[in-house]
Amino acid sequence: MVEVHIRRSPRVRWHRINFRPGEPAELVVRPRASEAEIQAAIEYHTPWLERQLAVAPEARLGLDRLTLTEEQGRREARARISLIAQSEAAALGVEYSRISLRDQRSRWGSCSSRGNLSFNWRLVLAPHDVLDYVVVHEVCHLVELHHRSAFWNLVAKRRPYYAESKRWLDDHGWEILAYSPPRAAAA
Ligand SMILES: [Zn+2]
Repeated sequence: MVEVHIRRSPRVRWHRINFRPGEPAELVVRPRASEAEIQAAIEYHTPWLERQLAVAPEARLGLDRLTLTEEQGRREARARISLIAQSEAAALGVEYSRISLRDQRSRWGSCSSRGNLSFNWRLVLAPHDVLDYVVVHEVCHLVELHHRSAFWNLVAKRRPYYAESKRWLDDHGWEILAYSPPRAAAA
């Protein structure tokens, strides 16, 4: 059976289905939808949902088999991020104040107006190009502290294929955010 959560919203005319691998599907229905209407909507969406559930496992990274602790992950993240940040800052002729690592549920990195860079340590779980893109993104904010086109042009100049990394984060970011590290290093 497919698990479906029901939500009522004035923003849908009939019904809509939302699905992300690893989370229960969400059926959004109009505020006055009747039970019969909800049942019909579930039946309508079930074949599509079943196909999504069938392909989802292949798309997963298999992080549940990893034994990387948070301490190990942070150490490696710091080493790799510092290296990229240093060389990118030098290439762009900018300086940053310091790098901190966070464990945020929704952000990969940030850059403050004082030039402090912070990154989600979980980026070590992503392919190197993805970690690289996030670091370059934040270092580019030292030049352009906004998301207007001048900023994206600069990112594209430094990493022409950055869109692929962005897409990877959209597709798999939830998996690295869901990774729960073991408490201590495996002996
Ligand atoms: Zn940004």
